[in-house]
Amino acid sequence: MKNIKFYIETIGCQMNVNDSDKMAEILSKRGCFRTEDMSQADIVIVNTCSVRFSAEHKAYSLLGRLKEQKDVNPNLIIGVAGCMAQYAAKEIKTRCKFVDFVLGARDIDLFCETISKYVPDNKEINQNRNENSEVFRYITIMRGCSNFCSYCIVPYVRGPEVSIDYNEILKEVKKACDDGIKEIILLGQNVNSYNYNGVNFTQLLQKISEIDKVKRIRFMTNHPKDLSDELIDEIATNTKICRHIHLPLQSGSNNILKAMNRKYTYEQYKTLYEKIKNKIPDINITSDIIIGFPGETDKDFQDTFNASRQLQFGGLFIFKYSPRPKTLAAKLKNTVSLETIKERHSLLLEDSNIISKKINEKYIDKTIEVLVERVNNNVAEARNSQNIKVFFDTKENLKGKTVNVKITKVLPNSMSGILQ
Ligand code: SF4
Repeated sequence: MKNIKFYIETIGCQMNVNDSDKMAEILSKRGCFRTEDMSQADIVIVNTCSVRFSAEHKAYSLLGRLKEQKDVNPNLIIGVAGCMAQYAAKEIKTRCKFVDFVLGARDIDLFCETISKYVPDNKEINQNRNENSEVFRYITIMRGCSNFCSYCIVPYVRGPEVSIDYNEILKEVKKACDDGIKEIILLGQNVNSYNYNGVNFTQLLQKISEIDKVKRIRFMTNHPKDLSDELIDEIATNTKICRHIHLPLQSGSNNILKAMNRKYTYEQYKTLYEKIKNKIPDINITSDIIIGFPGETDKDFQDTFNASRQLQFGGLFIFKYSPRPKTLAAKLKNTVSLETIKERHSLLLEDSNIISKKINEKYIDKTIEVLVERVNNNVAEARNSQNIKVFFDTKENLKGKTVNVKITKVLPNSMSGILQ
């Protein structure tokens, strides 16, 4: 049998990265080899996202290029997976007749069965995992979401929230450790509401940290309405848990938060934020903001801008609102022009970058511990406990090693320094 090469394009969140890893593992176990060159692949899987319109646009333009590739090589197998495949399967099959299979995000467990139609089982050939997974591995602890934030398509495409049996999670964590993984990243749309047979998220973290070989644990994402005092105390005292919490705010205006169905006010968010900062002084809190939600007035935007200044996030991910099918917000009249969204986006981005850079300045001349994720052309890319990227020069292959770096330069989202 010839060596079958596969290429996976992952669009969207870490959940999709995790699903892509799983598909890659299945293909590898069947004797296929991963390639980073799409044009060389015999199988191409586009793992799609539907959270934003731009992500869908990206998937369709990639499929357009794949059609040309298939015209030249009719044996090419093309699969579409993920969220867009879940809710727009019919449209994909109609628009892209050259696609061989469409597998929605909820059906990812059927991938093995689906791919067996195209790839004969060949366990003789050894498996290969993706490059990142050698240092850190995503482990999904929950699927779906039941929160129904009014702008979000996730509950419709990924279904209601389901917590995965902690025994299964522990098995996966142990396997990751045996594979030499240095950092475990737990994934769920709202990890704070994890509950399996009475075991909550804090208890799950405790169980995972009891595994000796586990060195570093991260998790995402959090929901301000569910992040408990118990969890804050656990992070404060458990040295295996990284000092980073991603806590999406989405808006600083109570009117908009209500319309978004986020179930907290700005004041409640601020109280939680301050509690975390007080209990875990070295924590880095990052956040998400959506600009241009229907009805967002100048005053609402000003509230968001002020919130960003007041809270001083270590990093802010700012998204431009785009209506998503099926969601409640899609029924609202879009009152904010694209031009205003663009303007507000750049104002906030510029200001939040100044804030993040200033926060990072406290690291200048300090020596910090980082875990090296990759080394390319003698430059190492690492991450500290606070989830800030750190670059430094090295001639050694330090991938997977924990080293000390003296920080000499900072940017809003990364730092660089000298290996000690
Ligand atoms: S919590 Fe809200 S934004 Fe997050 S996935 Fe669920 S519905 Fe979407």
